[in-house]
Amino acid sequence: MDTGVLLVGAGPTGLLLACELALAGVRTLVVDKRATPHRESRALNLHPRSMELMDMRGLAERFLAAGRTVPGWQFAVSLKRRLDFTALDTRHPYALLLAQSRTEELLAERALELGADIRRGYEAVGLRQDADGVEVDVSGPGGPVTVRAAYAVGCDGGRSLVRQAAGIGFPGTRESMTAVVGDFAVADHACNDRARRHGVLVSRLEAGLTRYVVMDPGRLRVPSTEPVTLEEFRTSLMRVCGTDCGIGMPRWMSRFGNTTRLAERYRRGRVLLAGDAAHIHFPVGAQGLNTGLQDAMNLGWKLAATVAGRAPPGLLDTYDDERRPVGHAVTTATRAQTLLVELPLTEQYGPAAGLLCELLDTLLDMEDVNRYLAGRISALDTAYPPATPDADALTGRRMPDIALETAAGPARVYELLHDGRPVLLNLGPGAAGDPADGTDRSARPRPGARIRVVDAHRHELHTGLEDASAVLVRPDGHIAWASRTTDPRALRAERAGVLAMWTGARARNSG
Ligand SMILES: Cc1cc2nc3c(=O)[nH]c(=O)nc-3n(C[C@H](O)[C@H](O)[C@H](O)COP(=O)(O)OP(=O)(O)OC[C@H]3O[C@@H](n4cnc5c(N)ncnc54)[C@H](O)[C@@H]3O)c2cc1C
Repeated sequence: MDTGVLLVGAGPTGLLLACELALAGVRTLVVDKRATPHRESRALNLHPRSMELMDMRGLAERFLAAGRTVPGWQFAVSLKRRLDFTALDTRHPYALLLAQSRTEELLAERALELGADIRRGYEAVGLRQDADGVEVDVSGPGGPVTVRAAYAVGCDGGRSLVRQAAGIGFPGTRESMTAVVGDFAVADHACNDRARRHGVLVSRLEAGLTRYVVMDPGRLRVPSTEPVTLEEFRTSLMRVCGTDCGIGMPRWMSRFGNTTRLAERYRRGRVLLAGDAAHIHFPVGAQGLNTGLQDAMNLGWKLAATVAGRAPPGLLDTYDDERRPVGHAVTTATRAQTLLVELPLTEQYGPAAGLLCELLDTLLDMEDVNRYLAGRISALDTAYPPATPDADALTGRRMPDIALETAAGPARVYELLHDGRPVLLNLGPGAAGDPADGTDRSARPRPGARIRVVDAHRHELHTGLEDASAVLVRPDGHIAWASRTTDPRALRAERAGVLAMWTGARARNSG
């Protein structure tokens, strides 16, 4: 079997990456060892940046219709104050409560609409690569098959076969603490507030289920490999909050730990890693799934351009350059956040840690502190280092979704990104491009054009963008290049250089 890109793993990361590759016209095959999609949900929410990504592909409405919004999320469950996302500068200032299984369903639906091939019941068991491609041994319902692809991406979770077969190390810290999670049908919710006051994480799910996450001081050292029983769950709830909350038969129960690891590299030759295959940590702050989606969005357009042979030199390497530091920041911060959860539960540090939590609650009341931590957890403040030292300060930063007036009528920047192409926005007077530059200047996407150019007659003012005369927005919503030049000739020269780099010679002739 041959394909353009093989994705191992149809979790949220693999499915969004499949959408991105298929949108760019890459032949994409996804294999997952499970015969059917997961029904249980580990993650429960999408943070603001993930919702912005969905917005950039015209999917925000689908997700909003399936979930429920709340104004913020915990930094650590031991704190009384939640982070307030409403203070953030975004059109999506909330956390969307949506079961991971539903997120996967919506992404799989979109990937299939776009033409990706998703095969369930197919397990990757081995992998080799040479100069031209990757061969993956897959064990499927009809027996073993070998898939040959130009590139393979391991989206196969924390125990990633792809990572191991590619010889990529996964250093980090071992599990030292565990917690239990369970989804139950509960008839009477009167005890939930009491449970919350005692540090139990309680979330109402759809279909009449309620999620409880319990950290029982007496059971923190039980290894995550030990199965959870209903009896244990009830006893832990009783011990922690004096009630078993009336839980009945579980839909799902699991024990999870704080093992924290980061892949030593995200790429080896033609093999790449994304999502939990590249980073794992305790799910404090609810960042795992969200970080995986952001990896997928960063990688998708770069890999598509590379497969099509039109990527600027080194583009694919920027995936590791940009996303591994984010993985490092998340795995480091979650270790600190996990301590905030663990220390109050220990005999030795309990009382002092309680004081620390009180102090942090006071700090979280401060607007600046909230904005800083909410900016990190929501991933809205993720900025990538500029490729060159003389690049404009906007380069690498997240492009805000400003409103524009264009010849074709009003538009938002994220709407212009729906088809996954870079957008060159001319924002200043005299910035209009040269019609002979081979780019798509039409209101509707023109098939085959690599880049869209939009002249904004007017635009919403935004801090940092006030004096920008042109910006090139990458398909993942980060700024690739910006200019503040007002001299039309100088600007045209700058633009021509940028377009040549981003579209490639072929695109300039055919755009
Ligand atoms: C209790 C708990 C609560 C959580 N809550 C949150 C939260 O609120 N927010 C958040 O952002 N994150 C949360 N997380 C983390 C989140 O669930 C993960 O980060 C997320 O599932 C990672 O997605 P992924 O697609 O990278 O990997 P996975 O979801 O692990 O998907 C990997 C897929 O690969 C398949 N696979 C594995 N090996 C192979 C193979 N050899 N061949 C073929 N297929 C294979 C698997 O079947 C699976 O479908 C939570 C985690 C836990 C444990």
